[in-house]
Amino acid sequence: MITISTHQGKQVEIVLERELCHPVDMGAHVRAYCHIHGSDHQRSLSINKMTGWGHCFNAACEATVLVAEWNRAVAKRLLHFHYQGLTSAAQPSYQPPFMESRSKPHVVQPMLLPPPKAIPEWQQDELHALCTLDEQMRRALAHSQRAQLYLRERSIPLTTALTTGVRYLPSTLLNGPEMRKQHGLLRRWADRLLFPLNSLDGRGYIGRSLWHWQPGMNETIHKALLERPGSPKRWIKTSPAGWFGVDFELFPHTIMLVEGAFDRLTLLAAGFQAPEIVALVGTTLPVEWLPAQVKTVVLALDGDAGGKEASNRLADHLAQAGLRVQVCPLVQDTWGKDWNERWQRLGRRSVVSVLEAFSEARSM
Ligand SMILES: [Zn+2]
Repeated sequence: MITISTHQGKQVEIVLERELCHPVDMGAHVRAYCHIHGSDHQRSLSINKMTGWGHCFNAACEATVLVAEWNRAVAKRLLHFHYQGLTSAAQPSYQPPFMESRSKPHVVQPMLLPPPKAIPEWQQDELHALCTLDEQMRRALAHSQRAQLYLRERSIPLTTALTTGVRYLPSTLLNGPEMRKQHGLLRRWADRLLFPLNSLDGRGYIGRSLWHWQPGMNETIHKALLERPGSPKRWIKTSPAGWFGVDFELFPHTIMLVEGAFDRLTLLAAGFQAPEIVALVGTTLPVEWLPAQVKTVVLALDGDAGGKEASNRLADHLAQAGLRVQVCPLVQDTWGKDWNERWQRLGRRSVVSVLEAFSEARSM
C-alpha cells in the first residue's frame, strides 16, 4: 500500500489486490475488511470492480482506495505524479528559502476522481439491452440501405464505420414479439446510429438520431429539424458514457483529440490509425485518465467559439500535467466548421494541415 496526496490535499491509498482483507464478491462491488483502519468485524471497504475505486464507510476512517491491478492506467499515472513530486520536492533545499516559491519546479498532482456514482437501474437495464443487441445492430448497419446512404452522404466509408464498432438500431428491430421487454427501454434509441464509448467506469454508447432524415437532406437542415420542439434529441448517451476511441490501454504516445464522432470517422477515413484519434463527444477528459504512455496530445477541435474555448482550456490542463500539447485549429473559412463538413466538400485537401500537424507532433 502507498499513500499519495493529491494537490487538493486528498489522500488516496493505492493498494494491491492481495492486500484486501477477506474480500467478498458482491457483483459490481467487492467488500473487504478495511486494513487501513484495521477493522475485522465489518466489511466497511467497498470497491467498484470496474473502476478500481473504493471507499471505507467507517466514519472514523473514510479512506479512499484504488486497487492498482483493477485500474492500472490511473494507478500508474497517480504514482508517476507522486514520484515526480517527491523528486522535485527534494531539490529546493539547494536554494535560498525566499527563492523557493518562485523557482520551485511546477508540479501538479492530478485531481482526485470523484467516486463512481450509482447508476439508476433503468440506465443499467438500457445499457444491458443495447449490449445484447450489439451483433444484431452490426448486421443492421451492414444491411440497411438507409443508414448506409446517410454515411455515404457524410462521405464515411461503410467499412470504416463497421470496423470502429458503429451500429444501427432500426425501429423494425424493436417490433418483434420477442422484443416486448426491450421495446420500452430502447424506444428512444430507435432509428439511431450508435457509437461505442470507453471510459474508466465501463463501456457505453452514444446515439445519433436519423429521425426524418431523407437522402439528400444536408446536416444543417436535419439538425434544424431535430431542434424543433417535440423532436427526438439529436444525440443521447448511456450511463456510463465516455469517449469514442480505442481502449485507453492501447493509446499510442501521441494522440489527437477531436470533438465529434463523425470527426473521428472522417480522420480514420483519411488514413489515421484507430488508436490515434479520440472523439470527446461532449465528455470532459480528466487528464489523469490518460495512461502514462501518452506524452503528446494534438487538439483538433471545432473552429467555432465553443471549440476554441474548449481547446484553450484543455491545452492548459494537459500542459500543467506535463504533457506536450499541439493545437491544430480548423481553418476559419466558409468550407465548414468541423472535419466532417470540410471533408464532404473538399475531400483530401481538408485534412492536409491536420495530417502534417500530427506527423510533426509524433516525431517531437
Ligand atoms: Zn477504513
